[in-house]
Amino acid sequence: MIVRNARLREREGLWEMHVEGGRIVSLQAQSEQQAASSKPGERAFDAAGGEEPIDAQGALLLPPWVDAHVHLDTALTAGQPRYNQSGTLWEGISIWAERKQQMTEADVLARARRALAQEISYGTLLVRSHVDVCDPQLTALRALLRLREEIAPLMTLQIVAFPQEGIFCYEHGDAYLEEALRLGADVVGGIPHYEWTREDGVAQVRRIFDLAEKYDRRIDLHCDETDDPNSRYTEVVAKEAYARGMGSRVTISHTTAMHSYDNAYALRLIENLHKAGVSLVTNPLANLNLQGRADTYPKRRGLTRVKELWQAGVNMAVGHDDIRDPWNPLGVGNMLQPAFALVYAAQMGGAQELEAVLDMITQNSAQALGLSEAYGLVPGRPADFLLVEASDVRDLLSQVTPALHVFRGGKLIAQRRVEVALQVEALQNDG
Ligand SMILES: [Zn+2]
Repeated sequence: MIVRNARLREREGLWEMHVEGGRIVSLQAQSEQQAASSKPGERAFDAAGGEEPIDAQGALLLPPWVDAHVHLDTALTAGQPRYNQSGTLWEGISIWAERKQQMTEADVLARARRALAQEISYGTLLVRSHVDVCDPQLTALRALLRLREEIAPLMTLQIVAFPQEGIFCYEHGDAYLEEALRLGADVVGGIPHYEWTREDGVAQVRRIFDLAEKYDRRIDLHCDETDDPNSRYTEVVAKEAYARGMGSRVTISHTTAMHSYDNAYALRLIENLHKAGVSLVTNPLANLNLQGRADTYPKRRGLTRVKELWQAGVNMAVGHDDIRDPWNPLGVGNMLQPAFALVYAAQMGGAQELEAVLDMITQNSAQALGLSEAYGLVPGRPADFLLVEASDVRDLLSQVTPALHVFRGGKLIAQRRVEVALQVEALQNDG
């Protein structure tokens, strides 16, 4: 299989990619002669399923998007049993407590399948989902473990065992978390700021690292997801990661309290996060919605310090987080939406900053998931890629939902057309 006349990010000219046995064999610049002699077809990608080379007609060739943080167990439940009227975290929690009573394996499977089908249709092929394991039956976890196998031909799904209600302040929380790892969760999750005391939060972080070592898993904690400037568990995670030499296996999600730390403390923390070599995930959609709710004015944006962390060289990734559930009423699983929101919320609109935001939903997120060795437009790696009808990063992030073709292992698995028929001439004549 050959893709011709594609363009690459931040590179000049047209490019040709060869794929064999589901892997990329080569990616080479086309000579001007080759580009001139190629005859673009009527429609860009109609040859995608056949033997003919695919004429990309100048579309951008990109690796697939990565969703570094989502909650598939709660996805697509908005309105069940009722909509969140205040939009707050607290009302969301009480609605979810009611909805959770009706949760079955089939119910989770059906919703998670739909959510992932949407993610794929918008170009996302790597997803890390947290799943609440504060449940004696581990119902949602069992459903997602099944889905992980079922969906493997189409995408890579990682599952985080997430003790939503804590492990010391929830009866048997610690035992359920460990059972989830025995059953096969890929990643140990946590939520230290949810424990009742500082000491229990610190103990939770250490327990999570112990479990990760015992079961040889990666770590991804919900950490300091609050406006409280005294919530300081990110420093504990950085220290444990550094001391145990585990930084490349550790991700810290949210860290919204960093928005509210004083600069002297935050700058030192950012330096230590860089030294520890951990990844951070920001979830702009959910956190713009949920943080700063106790503020009058001025109201905090409530995101972590994305720009400063990026400038310091910390690996920054982006998640969709909630998709139409009690905490986020909107979303279709399109990673360009949180990327678009992040440009404005974190003031990342500079020319290089826009490229950095695109890195955050591609290679940085793949790195956070520990999948960067099998990711990217590199010979020898799986031929998972997108052809996107956008001219550059500005065009891509402006369109948010561009036409695209999604390939997994060299096979076309999804395509999204955008057809607009503007009757401008007719309007002018009528006028
Ligand atoms: Zn989350």
